[in-house]
Formats: sequence, structure tokens, C-alpha cells
Amino acid sequence: MIDYIVVGFGLAGLSFVDKLESNNKSYVVYENYSEQSSRVAGGLYNPVILKRFTPAWLASEQLELAISVYKRIENKLGESLVFELPVLRRFNDVEEQNLWFEACDKPILDRFLSSELIRNENDALDVSFHYGKVKHTGRVDVKKMLSCYLQNIEKHGNLIKESFLFDELLIESDFLVYKGIKARNIIFSEGFGVRNNPFFNYLPLYGNKGEYIIIKSKELKLKEAVKSSIFIIPLGNDLYKVGATYNNQDKTADITKSAREQLKNKLSRFLKVDYEVVDQVAGIRPTTRDRRPLIGTHKEYRNLHIINGLGSRGILIGPFVSEKLYNYIENEAILDKEIDIKRFEHLR
Ligand SMILES: Cc1cc2nc3c(=O)[nH]c(=O)nc-3n(C[C@H](O)[C@H](O)[C@H](O)COP(=O)(O)OP(=O)(O)OC[C@H]3O[C@@H](n4cnc5c(N)ncnc54)[C@H](O)[C@@H]3O)c2cc1C
Repeated sequence: MIDYIVVGFGLAGLSFVDKLESNNKSYVVYENYSEQSSRVAGGLYNPVILKRFTPAWLASEQLELAISVYKRIENKLGESLVFELPVLRRFNDVEEQNLWFEACDKPILDRFLSSELIRNENDALDVSFHYGKVKHTGRVDVKKMLSCYLQNIEKHGNLIKESFLFDELLIESDFLVYKGIKARNIIFSEGFGVRNNPFFNYLPLYGNKGEYIIIKSKELKLKEAVKSSIFIIPLGNDLYKVGATYNNQDKTADITKSAREQLKNKLSRFLKVDYEVVDQVAGIRPTTRDRRPLIGTHKEYRNLHIINGLGSRGILIGPFVSEKLYNYIENEAILDKEIDIKRFEHLR
């Protein structure tokens, strides 16, 4: 009997599997490549919501854990995956500058916001009202991390590249059997794919589609991530990720012309040099109505668990909630009410 079956290997599945490996637990992963959210993510970690200059949910608590987890994974896999990357918020007017200074004075934010105005020295960008700089920011190459981690799992014979079929799961009181694999527990980490999961699809996971365009520009020469109405994220080799869009109507993961035009239009308001669109990607963020993750155990089946609802901040939230879920299952720790799926029991 193995310890865990893990269904889905995006940021949620990866951080839980990493927790299992750190604790010498045995596991297999099922992955069918049906959802793209983690693979297309911008990869930024940034503890501040830059629309309103407010702290992201528990970002201070999540930041150090997340960086230490990704650095450990970097060492384990022998690949460069985590990069410090300054994030500059472009101000639209003096009013926004004032709001920024007000935010800098708040004790909860002074660790993250620099109170110095940063002058733009890049002729490729129109930045009339300067930048504010966020501290402790960076980028994780999520696509590469997932792919290298999966290769490692496959090398050890623990990856099954198939869709998990719910009808074939046999549930007993203290173990499960799936296609001949006997396990103590199963973790569902399917992102927006949870809508097909009969055990957990009652949970209010709505999904919000996001698209990026990837542009190439020799003249831009940008070293920092710049946030205006959209982000420009440098990827190296004159390539930049530009986006993302937010769309809660379209639940397909297809790229669209309308998103491309929207992003180009927003870019034209402050980018002054030529560029070429070389690619476009799309994915559905697993978002919830109350903007909190969905973590916990099925009410009737004590060996079925879920880690989902990472929303638009999976990089920081993933390791944090993985630790919470692991300690809940293995060490009888109490789950915080605000993340526990019990808050949606009335919807079952
Ligand atoms: C455009 C965009 C930009 C983003 N940018 C950022 C960012 O800069 N920073 C940040 O922190 N977050 C960002 N996010 C959010 C972040 O990507 C999500 O929080 C994260 O991807 C959620 O991870 P997940 O593992 O829950 O879901 P997913 O990444 O969707 O992973 C679920 C996995 O389960 C698999 N699966 C599903 N069903 C089955 C099944 N039946 N059998 C087998 N496998 C299955 C899927 O193929 C998939 O690999 C962004 C998201 C998008 C869409």
C-alpha cells in the first residue's frame, strides 16, 4: 500500500508532492495535461495587490516559506528556477503617487513598498509620473519547474500520464483502490478540472480565464517587471510576457483575438517602440467567490482530500496551503476556517 495518490500536477499538486517527498511518503501522480493555469502563469511572486496598494492575503506569512520551498526544489532538480525580479508600479497620475505614499506608511506594507519615487530611464516607455518599487518580488519559471519535476517523478516510476477516472475508484474506510493501486489517501489537485470531480464539484470554484501575449522587442531592453494596467515581464532574449486578461465568462482555454487586441491596445498606451507578437497562451485560474483556497477532506470519505482555489496567486499560496493540508491529514492539526471546505458544506 502506498501513502498517496495525487490527481493533477500544477502548482497545487507540485507543492503537495514536494511536502510528501520531504516526509518520505510514497505516492503516484496522475496528470492528463487538460488544464494549463500553472503552465501559462506569469510566474511572479509579489506580496502586494498593485491595483489598490493593499497587502495580498497572508502574503507576509507565505513569502518566506514559498521561496525556501522553490529554492529547495531548484537544488533537488539541479535547475535554475527562481529569480529575483524587481516589480515597478507605473503611476498614472499624482493622485496614485499620493495613494502609494499613504500605503507606504502602513505598518503592514512598509516592508514591501519603497517610499522612493523611481524615475524612468528607459526611452522605450512613457512614464510621466514615475514608478513605485515593490520589495521582495521575483519570478519562478513555473513551466520549467513543473516539467523538470514531472521528469524526476517519471524517472522514479511514480507518474501515470492518464486522466483519473472517478468511476474506477473503490473507497474503503481506511484505504482506497484505483486500477490495482492501493493507497491510504487521495489528493485532488485538478485546478479548474475539479468541475468533473463528482466528490468535490459542489464547491464554488468559478474560474477566471487569463491570457498573455509573448512579444519580442530588441529596443525595449527592460530588466524589471513593469505593472501599469497590465504587466510587462522580461523573460530574457528580448522576449516579454504581456498581460494578463481577466475573463469570467469564457471557460475555454483557447487563445482569443479579442484578448490579443485588448493587450496590444493597453500596451500602446505606454510602450513607444516596435515589437512583434510571437506567441499567446491562455489558462483558467481556479478562483473562488470568497477569494480563499479550498482545502480539506470529504465529509463522508475521510481519505479523500482537496487542494484547490489558489486563484491568481498560486506561487505564494501553494506551499502555504500544502503544509496546512499535510499537517491536517498526518498530524491532526486544525485547519483554519477561512480555507477549510467545511465552509461550503451547505452546498453539498
Ligand atoms: C494567465 C495566468 C497568469 C497567472 N499569473 C500568475 C502569477 O504571475 N503568479 C501567481 O502566483 N499565479 C499566477 N496565476 C495563477 C496560478 O497560475 C494558479 O493559482 C495556479 O496555476 C493554480 O494551480 P493548480 O495546481 O490549482 O491548477 P492547474 O495549474 O490548473 O493544475 C491542475 C492540474 O491537474 C490536471 N488534471 C485536471 N484534471 C485531471 C484528471 N482528471 N486527471 C489527471 N490530471 C488532471 C491538469 O492537467 C493540471 O495540470 C496565473 C494564472 C493564469 C491563468
